[in-house]
Amino acid sequence: MTEHEILALLNGIRLLADEIPFDIQEINKLGLIKKELGLNNYNCLRCGNNDKNKFGKHFCLRCNNICYYCKNCIMMGKLSSCSELYSGPSTNTLEPTNKNYLNYDGEFTDEQKTASTKVIETIKQKSQLLIWAVCGAGKTEIIFPGLNFALQKGLNICLATPRTDVVHELTPRLKKAFPEIEITSLFGGSENKYKNSPITISTTHQLLRFYKKFDVLILDEIDAFPYNYDKSLQYAVNNARKDDSTFIMLSATPPNSINYNQQINKVIIPKRYHGNPLPLPKLEWIGDWEKSLLTKNNVPKKLQDFIEHSIREGRKPIVFVPNIPIGSVLQDKISESKFVYSSHENRKRIVEEFKEGKLKCLITTTILERGVTIPFVDVAVLGADDEIFNETALVQIAGRVGRKKEDTSGRVIFFHNGKTNEILKSIKHIKKINRLGGFE
Ligand SMILES: [Zn+2]
Repeated sequence: MTEHEILALLNGIRLLADEIPFDIQEINKLGLIKKELGLNNYNCLRCGNNDKNKFGKHFCLRCNNICYYCKNCIMMGKLSSCSELYSGPSTNTLEPTNKNYLNYDGEFTDEQKTASTKVIETIKQKSQLLIWAVCGAGKTEIIFPGLNFALQKGLNICLATPRTDVVHELTPRLKKAFPEIEITSLFGGSENKYKNSPITISTTHQLLRFYKKFDVLILDEIDAFPYNYDKSLQYAVNNARKDDSTFIMLSATPPNSINYNQQINKVIIPKRYHGNPLPLPKLEWIGDWEKSLLTKNNVPKKLQDFIEHSIREGRKPIVFVPNIPIGSVLQDKISESKFVYSSHENRKRIVEEFKEGKLKCLITTTILERGVTIPFVDVAVLGADDEIFNETALVQIAGRVGRKKEDTSGRVIFFHNGKTNEILKSIKHIKKINRLGGFE
């Protein structure tokens, strides 16, 4: 064991003694390594858990005493009140240079240019920025020049997202844009371990082991599940950042807590990159369709018409449903359709089949509300008044339509049995964005 090896292992990383394959006595002699007790009363240093109910008690063999431990992050190894966490300083991988790392020749709209300049300023100032970019604004490209700037300064960069799908989608795009830069992708079950790369792309879950690692942390889809409600993920993101770091948040539907936070600068991109407005959903009342569907297998006539009309026009209808039983009945009743939901083992393949035109109609739960771009889709929400469809979900669903230059609009219909507040808020949201984009 050399000092170099220990510092490399704990480079902006925090681990339990059990996780360190070196002699702990030797490590304790190294001045650069920080050692802290993992639990402080009912406060877990690793995951931020401070809910008394989420701690357990056990007889601890290490200290021969009764110890308590954090149940919230136990999947990362048991952290007991006698456990210590070790961390080392984060070092940078690149030397500062004037060299251009970016390989991207796409053109920016004026709005994209403004946002992109803001990103660079934010990195210079080590401050915080919210980029509120409408669905289909091309928000990943906006950060490219900022990433290039950060790489030139030799900074450690992390792109984080609550969703594994997004890690998979971002990785090839970033590798193409920065061909010379080593990029590490982290997600549950990933083979890549914690390498010290200039760019790390990670799920928010995987950030729990980082400690003051990154100079620039860009968080995509801040409003997405599970980040929006899981405090330990928010804790992980904060801990992964150095004290004086840049924090940039991206969202098409930012939560009010961030949108109205005075500490955070904001830039809005209300126009899609192709310059057309977001499609405005149409509301259709269809009475008590649910009972009729589940007991008599009757597909609402208006939904049937929507699907047939869409197919006749050579388009691709997607039907969002509130739950699995409803989706399953619909799949049986609608010819050449398939139904996907989060635990469906073939869901990726089915979405591909639909993209390629091998399927006429796709039925889905809210799992496809984000991250899918398929040209020529029309979208229906069956039971838009169900509580699962909140404002954010409905805006994201409408945002699936008209995302491509070759297909800039399409139909969005919310089928309901009574307008909810969330439905009305989603319509208001879309109208506001379109107004900001100069459309009336
Ligand atoms: Zn914990």
